[in-house]
Amino acid sequence: MNTSIINQLREILGNENLFDSIEKRIAYVSDASRLTGSIPDAVARPTTTDQVSRILRAANSARTPVYSRGAGSGLTGGAVPVRGGIVLDLELMNKILAIDVDNMTALVQPGVVTADLQQRVQRLGLFYPPDPASSDFCTIGGNVAENSGGLRGAKYGSTREYVMALEVVLADGEIIRIGSGAPKSVTGYDLVRLFVGSEGTLGVFTEILLRLIPLPEHVETVLANFPKAAQAAAAVCAMFANRITPRAAELMDEGAVECVRRYKASSALPASGVFCLFEVDGPRPATIGDADRVVEICKSNGATLVKKAANDQEREHYWQLRRAISPALYTLGRVKLNEDICVPRTRLAEMLDKTQEIGRRCLLRIVNFGHIGDGSIHVNVMLERDDEELSRKAEQAVAEIFAAAVSMGGTLSSEHGIGLTKARFLGIELPEKEFSLMARIKNLLDPNGILNPGKFLDVGRPEKP
Ligand SMILES: Cc1cc2nc3c(=O)[nH]c(=O)nc-3n(C[C@H](O)[C@H](O)[C@H](O)COP(=O)(O)OP(=O)(O)OC[C@H]3O[C@@H](n4cnc5c(N)ncnc54)[C@H](O)[C@@H]3O)c2cc1C
Repeated sequence: MNTSIINQLREILGNENLFDSIEKRIAYVSDASRLTGSIPDAVARPTTTDQVSRILRAANSARTPVYSRGAGSGLTGGAVPVRGGIVLDLELMNKILAIDVDNMTALVQPGVVTADLQQRVQRLGLFYPPDPASSDFCTIGGNVAENSGGLRGAKYGSTREYVMALEVVLADGEIIRIGSGAPKSVTGYDLVRLFVGSEGTLGVFTEILLRLIPLPEHVETVLANFPKAAQAAAAVCAMFANRITPRAAELMDEGAVECVRRYKASSALPASGVFCLFEVDGPRPATIGDADRVVEICKSNGATLVKKAANDQEREHYWQLRRAISPALYTLGRVKLNEDICVPRTRLAEMLDKTQEIGRRCLLRIVNFGHIGDGSIHVNVMLERDDEELSRKAEQAVAEIFAAAVSMGGTLSSEHGIGLTKARFLGIELPEKEFSLMARIKNLLDPNGILNPGKFLDVGRPEKP
């Protein structure tokens, strides 16, 4: 990158918010995917939309890549720089600008941490439902860019359902506002939906207007142990069939239970079988009734132990076990390929069995957990060591898992996005014409390809492996 761009960045940001020393730049080569890219030439930490606009204008003129970054908690390498250039770290744009209690909306900057917003609105009797398991550290900007889901997706959906309007800085520095603050609007194409989930490839979000809903009066949490994952999947289908929409339905299979047990001692974890957490919410009497029915449904689907959380402390303990999975998995292997497929709920049992069959055949350890209430399974292919032959085998297993998910009417990614890790598998799901339409949209909005290059569309549409 030429010195003229660095000088322009310094003029826009001052010395304090421009990182150009190697010690600081090197901290941005990776994200939670553990993939490493190239060291960026500069890290820009803007505090205003105007600064973002000026940075993009300068980068676009010089054809310099720009990688937007929230907290770097992405699991597909979305924020990883791959061709040098500028990392645009949005951490300092972290203000909750307004909460409109009567109209139930929040206007935020992209660097707001998700849990901070959840807690602020909760104190006002309001609810922001999207709840990625990373909510304590991930940002709303990252959530919008990935259309993040999470623990309450079964009832409340993903981030997309809550984004009403966006301020976006386009590749050439132009600032646009899309969407509406009105509760309903069908004026023109739904550009907000196009930008949500665009993984930093179409523009940079600098302000986000979010829909809030009333905070549910009461929540009940039920823990259940089933001998087999397929029984847990059947119980979830039975809940919906019995007109209960659990706000959470989380599964940890035998492998996940084993590593969480190694990582964190707890009598709540079963000695064998799978561990599930269900949550229902709403008005108190109805919720208590729903929780009793969840208990019955679990029992009639083969659960060996079912227990309602007696109090907030017990409930929090159960959730801590669930949140411990990600770090605990590393007790099984040094390398983890973490995939986030989704299938229709009625195919969950079949898909869970299929992953284990693939694991046995490829001699690989596969551990599943996930938000089974909305059909999401986090499939983790665990490798003992970073080894070329093992990696090739794992990649083949992942391709088979994706192909199986798509053949069951499912998808490659329910919530983590495509980023770097899944780009080469896109051909399994995206037909040629859909891919080419997406490539034309990208080209229209970012003709010089400066926004997050090297990521999903940029590698071309691979054929089905
Ligand atoms: C332990 C753990 C648990 C997780 N659990 C879940 C879960 O339950 N559900 C789930 O969906 N995800 C989960 N994730 C993944 C991750 O937290 C989400 O993808 C999250 O939305 C990323 O937010 P971030 O701020 O860290 O974004 P980053 O990782 O920094 O960036 C992610 C993508 O967003 C783009 N981006 C960031 N900010 C902007 C912006 N302002 N404008 C345009 N593009 C932008 C980046 O370029 C990149 O492509 C988990 C991750 C971890 C480590």
